[in-house]
Amino acid sequence: MKVAFVASEGVPFSKTGGLADVVGALPKALAVLGHEVEVILPRYRVTAAGPAVPHAQSLTLPLGIGFKFATAQDGGRAHQVQTFLIDCPEYFDRDGLYQQNGADFPDNAHRFAAFSMATLEFLKRQTAPPDIIHCHDWETALVPIYLRNLYVGDKFFGATSVVLTIHNMGYQGIFPPHFLPQIGLHAGLFTIDGLEYYGNINLLKGGIIFSDFITTVSRKYAEEIQTPEFGYGLEGVVRAHSARLRGILNGVDYEEWDPATDKLLAAHYSPADLKGKAACKKALLQKMGVAAPAPARPVIGIISRFASQKGFDLIAAIAEQLAALDAYIVVLGSGEQKFEDLFREMALKHPDKVLVKIAYDNALAHLIEAGSDMFLMPSRYEPCGLNQIYSLKYGAVPVVRATGGLDDTIEPFDGKAGTGFKFDEYSPQALLGAIQAALEAYKAGKAWRSLMLNGMKKDFSWAASARAYSQIYETLRKTKAQTAQQA
Ligand code: ADP
Repeated sequence: MKVAFVASEGVPFSKTGGLADVVGALPKALAVLGHEVEVILPRYRVTAAGPAVPHAQSLTLPLGIGFKFATAQDGGRAHQVQTFLIDCPEYFDRDGLYQQNGADFPDNAHRFAAFSMATLEFLKRQTAPPDIIHCHDWETALVPIYLRNLYVGDKFFGATSVVLTIHNMGYQGIFPPHFLPQIGLHAGLFTIDGLEYYGNINLLKGGIIFSDFITTVSRKYAEEIQTPEFGYGLEGVVRAHSARLRGILNGVDYEEWDPATDKLLAAHYSPADLKGKAACKKALLQKMGVAAPAPARPVIGIISRFASQKGFDLIAAIAEQLAALDAYIVVLGSGEQKFEDLFREMALKHPDKVLVKIAYDNALAHLIEAGSDMFLMPSRYEPCGLNQIYSLKYGAVPVVRATGGLDDTIEPFDGKAGTGFKFDEYSPQALLGAIQAALEAYKAGKAWRSLMLNGMKKDFSWAASARAYSQIYETLRKTKAQTAQQA
């Protein structure tokens, strides 16, 4: 099938989080299954320019704020996947992808409206229509909204189905109602069955309503987003459409994340030979400024966006107890000011034990996975989470809260079987209890090696998940063909 993957970020062109990893890896796995996959992304300032695509040198976008113009660039072909970059410098030639100085760009609705419309216009210039357009998150939710409204009678897209994957329910693209005409949509969509949401417009809501199928990134999260605690106000809409909702776990790109081959590491290791891990630990601690690392002291790693979702208020509540543990705590991340301040303060107070880098640094992320004995993810909610899956492969035993993908991917250690430590209640004491249990197991020694190996031997590669997506695509194509026949 011909599949157009449309997203606001994707490795290696742009990345702020797990979405980019998925967009970088899933298309490759779909191509292996025989699909013809193209990826369409915005061209940001961080994205290197490609040559212009001749048949798409001027895409005209009739938005309510006026006509906008975009072009498409060739992002190249790798692993049987073709990438195209939508170039619209007014909107995308900026320093950040979504924000500047911690605040969202005020014209994000216009930016992603332009991107979504340019994508449809670009697809129309191609000889064959896609069987499937696979969109991701609110930034591309306008693709199905436009398709089922502005393009409703367009024969070119007559056999095209849309899949929308929700990577995080906490971001919905909510804008004041006057944005509706500005992004080219008519007032008739401002209803409870349309985009209206407590007096505003909600693009993710529109995406859910107008897509043919909805997926999210773990089985547990698919259940959770139907409840008030995790649905962020859209639980009713999700429940109403749950017959066409499925949770499919994200996979890992082991070409990027495998300590046996990872080019960014000081030494390599694998389940068959763990020796290199000690060298990685030493290299990490030295890089973080510890002159004489204590090899027996465990390293607890954290790599994260600093957002409330990730459970940092729990860490703040037990900061002193954490620093008092016989462990190094290595933190890499950036985001909300209060959490950056928290970790800066902890590092200042405990310079020999709490080692912090406030940054986005992919190379260091790899070193931390390899150099850590444990990996901490106390998330309030976690749609899938990738770092805990990388941690399994790198022998950094995950300590996680039992939510979403964390719950689906980590099995509690019982002394023999299991891959990590989990806690249920969202409380500082429960987190501390899980960390202490992990430290005790580490000190006890004997079973730790098998705990590490249990995790390192797990396989979360994309093949199985790609097959699940492929089945959904196939069902949609059949349904479309049947509907066309009946009509
Ligand atoms: P989310 O998408 O919610 O941020 P995930 O765990 O799904 O969380 O994915 C996070 C991805 O972003 C991982 O690949 C992780 O390594 C990466 N990442 C997050 N913060 C940083 C950082 N400060 N530096 C480098 N990589 C980071």
